[in-house]
Amino acid sequence: MIKLSGSLDEAFPALPGIDFAAMKVVVCVKQIPDPADPGALDPETKTLKRDSKLILDESDSYGVEMALQLVDAAGDGEVHLVSMAPNNEVSGLRTALAMGAASATIVSDDALQGSDALGTAKVLAAAIARQEPDLILAATESSDGYTGTVPEQVAELMGLPSVTFAKSVAVDGGAAKVKRQTEAGYDEVECPLPALVSVTAGVVEPRYPSFKGIMAAKSKPVDELDLGALGIDAGQVGWAGAGQEIVAIEEAPARESGEVIEDEGDAYERIVAFLDDLKVL
Ligand SMILES: Cc1cc2nc3c(=O)[nH]c(=O)nc-3n(C[C@H](O)[C@H](O)[C@H](O)COP(=O)(O)OP(=O)(O)OC[C@H]3O[C@@H](n4cnc5c(N)ncnc54)[C@H](O)[C@@H]3O)c2cc1C
Repeated sequence: MIKLSGSLDEAFPALPGIDFAAMKVVVCVKQIPDPADPGALDPETKTLKRDSKLILDESDSYGVEMALQLVDAAGDGEVHLVSMAPNNEVSGLRTALAMGAASATIVSDDALQGSDALGTAKVLAAAIARQEPDLILAATESSDGYTGTVPEQVAELMGLPSVTFAKSVAVDGGAAKVKRQTEAGYDEVECPLPALVSVTAGVVEPRYPSFKGIMAAKSKPVDELDLGALGIDAGQVGWAGAGQEIVAIEEAPARESGEVIEDEGDAYERIVAFLDDLKVL
């Protein structure tokens, strides 16, 4: 159980009753350095320098698409994006707005530098609560940090049910109906709204932004917030509030060459044994 301090409690107004005639879906959108040119690690802080242009994390394009489809199916409503990133960066948000989201919130503050996963979750939870959403979507894990912990921490901080690894999401009345990916297949899970659902890459096929969408995205509203606006004390986030410490960073080991199996009549048995070892059978 994550205990909220007084100031964070005040940052979360009670979530109101749900008006399903107009469904509001908030999508957590992480903006990351371009994986083709990720930039350098800062040897002093041992974190990735994020001072160049950031792009929409591909993992989150699935949540954006799912949200757009759910609002379409509801017949009325809107998709709002929430992101925490340095320097009020909105390049990745504009891509998601071009896909069809209506508006966005970006949270930036110098004091957020050094935020660990829980610090990030505190900020996202406070920004999301302001939107009074019916449903919150996030990716199962981001492409750069991939701790896969932020969405569940957001749900806990907001006191909401959380369903993870969704391979399909539907909203029916006041409930989310989710097919939840498991090793053996999937579970069918139902939970009351508002709720937070983290989606997998298989959930839907994200659309490409159209030219019209790209032009429209330029004038869509983006609310810029800092910690003061969210009522979060700087001591609870950033380096000051981090409960985790990065003790060392090192190069990822070079990929080893694979095993070549020459067929001497028993190749299939050796391949089956190899796959069995990997637990993929
Ligand atoms: C001690 C410490 C210091 C750190 N300092 C920094 C730092 O200075 N700068 C820095 O950039 N990183 C820093 N990090 C890394 C940072 O904490 C993580 O990148 C961040 O918490 C998100 O974690 P993740 O990518 O593993 O999220 P995951 O849990 O893998 O993300 C899952 C999903 O949650 C949502 N989500 C996650 N992060 C965001 C976000 N920022 N905005 C919107 N949605 C989001 C998205 O939907 C995402 O796909 C630090 C980490 C530690 C441990």
